[in-house]
Amino acid sequence: MIIDGKKISENLIKELKKEISQINKKGKTPKLSVILIGDYPPSKIYVNNKEKKAKEVGIRSEVIKYPNDIEESKVLEKIKALNNDSNVNGILVQLPLPGHINKEKIINAIDPNKDVDGFHPINVGKLSSGDQSIVPCTPLGCLYLIKSVEKNLEGKHAVILGRSNLNGKPMAQLLLKENCTITILHSKSKNLDVECKRADILVAAVGVSQIVKGNWIKKDAVVIDVGINKENGKLIGDVDFEASKNIAKAITPVPGGVGPMTIACLLQNTVKCFKKSNT
Ligand code: NAP
Repeated sequence: MIIDGKKISENLIKELKKEISQINKKGKTPKLSVILIGDYPPSKIYVNNKEKKAKEVGIRSEVIKYPNDIEESKVLEKIKALNNDSNVNGILVQLPLPGHINKEKIINAIDPNKDVDGFHPINVGKLSSGDQSIVPCTPLGCLYLIKSVEKNLEGKHAVILGRSNLNGKPMAQLLLKENCTITILHSKSKNLDVECKRADILVAAVGVSQIVKGNWIKKDAVVIDVGINKENGKLIGDVDFEASKNIAKAITPVPGGVGPMTIACLLQNTVKCFKKSNT
């Protein structure tokens, strides 16, 4: 089975639209502020897509653009102003940042209650202690995709390829909360093939084109491919899709799998942040 991330994300968007129209009835509209620094083309594309979807769902969205050489202190000042602006419910600083800007400093400056990416140490800590109020968007989207084909995850062996703060680690926390048994693999791990073959649920978030081969997949596993790699102008995942699709019980394609879920979950997080400050 091919897991249709586009369709599942559209269902989530529909739910959000309903929720936002209820909020509108009270004379309010959630607002997302995005800071975009420099003109790295993929970041511009992501931010455009986020803005388009935010508008579609009824979230007010503003993009604050800075040149590549903007001083770190100016960005921190802007974040402080957005933190103090009661009309702003969500703040997102698009990564990656130019080398002279300290990513940790920027993330730490965002009010944890407006941290729609879920990267602030307070939200990271909450997630690891089992409070899932604001969870990073991509792993949250992956969990929706997994649950669309596997309702009860208890006791399943989940193998996560990649240990980034953005993907691998929060994915592990989410699946641990679902009572999965977790293996996390990374660049220093040995025998990736053997470890992956033990997975009932395999999440690949590495950024290496088709690192996961068809013969690494356990029969009837659920395979989630987070990777986005560009080859000859084409987007390719971390999993060899063609070789894996008939072995896996269900698998996400690239594109059209995890990507659309990431944006839908960002908008969901914005609404969650709105509710936090409006209850
Ligand atoms: P990252 O920060 O570069 O982390 C990559 C992880 O993979 C690291 O833990 C690294 O191990 C591990 N790794 C790298 N090479 C490996 C190898 N040969 N064998 C085993 N492990 C290896 O990347 P990321 O931000 O998590 O992103 C991963 C991928 O997901 C990228 O392709 C990115 O574009 C994509 N992505 C997609 C979405 C979406 O919405 N679909 C969102 C975000 C990211 P070490 O820790 O040991 O270095």
